[in-house]
Amino acid sequence: MARCHPVEPMEPIRFHNTLTGRLEPFEPLHPGEVRIYTCGPTVYDYAHIGNYRTFVFQDILRRYLRLRGYRIRQVMNLTDVDDRIIQNAAERGISIREYTEKYAQAFLEDMRALNIEMPEHLVRATDHIEEMVALIERLTEKTYTYRSDGSIYYRITKFPGYGKLSKIDLSGVQAGARVEVDRYEKDDPRDFALWKAPKPGEHFWETRIGPGRPGWHIECSAMAMKYLGETLDIHTGGIDLVFPHHENEIAQSEAATGKPFVRYWLHAEHLIVEGEKMSKSLGNFFTLRDLLARGHRPSSIRYLLASVPYRRQFNFTFDGLQQAASSVERLRNFVVRLKTEKFPPGSHERIRERVRQAEAAFENALADDLNTAVALAATFDLVRELNTAADHGELREQDVPAVLAFLEKFDAIFAVLTDDDAAKMRALGFAAASAELSDAEIEALVAERQAARRRRDFQRADEIRAQLAERGIILEDTRDGGVRWKRK
Ligand code: AMP
Ligand code: ZN
Repeated sequence: MARCHPVEPMEPIRFHNTLTGRLEPFEPLHPGEVRIYTCGPTVYDYAHIGNYRTFVFQDILRRYLRLRGYRIRQVMNLTDVDDRIIQNAAERGISIREYTEKYAQAFLEDMRALNIEMPEHLVRATDHIEEMVALIERLTEKTYTYRSDGSIYYRITKFPGYGKLSKIDLSGVQAGARVEVDRYEKDDPRDFALWKAPKPGEHFWETRIGPGRPGWHIECSAMAMKYLGETLDIHTGGIDLVFPHHENEIAQSEAATGKPFVRYWLHAEHLIVEGEKMSKSLGNFFTLRDLLARGHRPSSIRYLLASVPYRRQFNFTFDGLQQAASSVERLRNFVVRLKTEKFPPGSHERIRERVRQAEAAFENALADDLNTAVALAATFDLVRELNTAADHGELREQDVPAVLAFLEKFDAIFAVLTDDDAAKMRALGFAAASAELSDAEIEALVAERQAARRRRDFQRADEIRAQLAERGIILEDTRDGGVRWKRK
């Protein structure tokens, strides 16, 4: 859209880097392109919404960098080989691929429902055994490894930088203590397995370094460097991955290449329920499908997960989910209003200026380590003021495109404005429930429809009727000009 005012210089992007413990200005290594590696899900079960907190953060990150004009090259792995997967597949007498395929597909469906963009490379660990073997060979050449009982371990004492990411001090860990549970013999309890000897009856790969299966950490180093080069811009994951997973990724990659592995490490804090981390092992989790089955919409869930800045702990409640639903509704109603209402001709410089201000506040918030809460506040302040302005006839026809352009920018990041929840829920086999609209929300929409009818804006009135019908709310106009509603 052409603009007649000078574009304000954008604030530099700052990210909190776990490696340095500081907020740092961000510049990619290769001008114009940002290379990101994201630890993906372990596909042994459905992902829970704690996992999706982290995946939504990563999606906001890539969408924001694109908005700032960068090309994105993102790799996400599917961890489709680990002890549980191998064990579960062996118990069922099926191949690893057969066992993980169902959950890999479910993950893709969930991503679509949550509008999480597909990374440029979504790759499976089991398709990269050769790259892992080659990396282990490289480490062996440089004497970073040793063999014990058919497994290959990484010798941590050879890598002086060990601990620089997690700031963990392992000097006090005694031989015999267990940092990672492992039943093989290690020279030092801190050492970790790069390659694990086969267990009877379980799947293994026959390779140049012997039969066995890869350790978890080597997967990510090998896949990251294959697609992104030896030094990448950003590596993301949940905070629980800092130690030992990411610490070990650094040790493996930097020992092999002699170069810095990752320039910026970004970690999302946990989603918690009643004070505890949501996790499979605690049993306190909801999968995306659990929430959809209760009638919650994908857009409410995405909005909720995106609304808390990623470095703050996220306290999940159903109240919060309900509020997220009404926030999305308010924004969608505003867009419908802008697109359907007949505004008086002309334009107001004051309104234009207000939109520019909101846009700057929105962008500055995201530049500040992706502060989504402030970005949302800037958006809602604007929507509230413009709704009032419109009620008073102060929003003019020619102001509307600028407001819509701002909302388009908003949605390039938050991706909740398209009213496609019902279709998405149907695609996953769930019915869109009517119960999700509270009485107060229904009353508010009914009142808005009455106001539209009074000003003879029948198009808007019909929109609202259709919107309510979509959610199973039926309106009956009474003879005295009032309206009654009921749930289908
Ligand atoms: P996993 O499938 O266990 O490998 O986890 C996938 C991603 O979800 C990783 O980045 C984890 O750090 C992240 N994650 C796991 N639990 C939570 C949680 N409760 N809150 C936020 N992120 C989580
Ligand atoms: Zn990883």
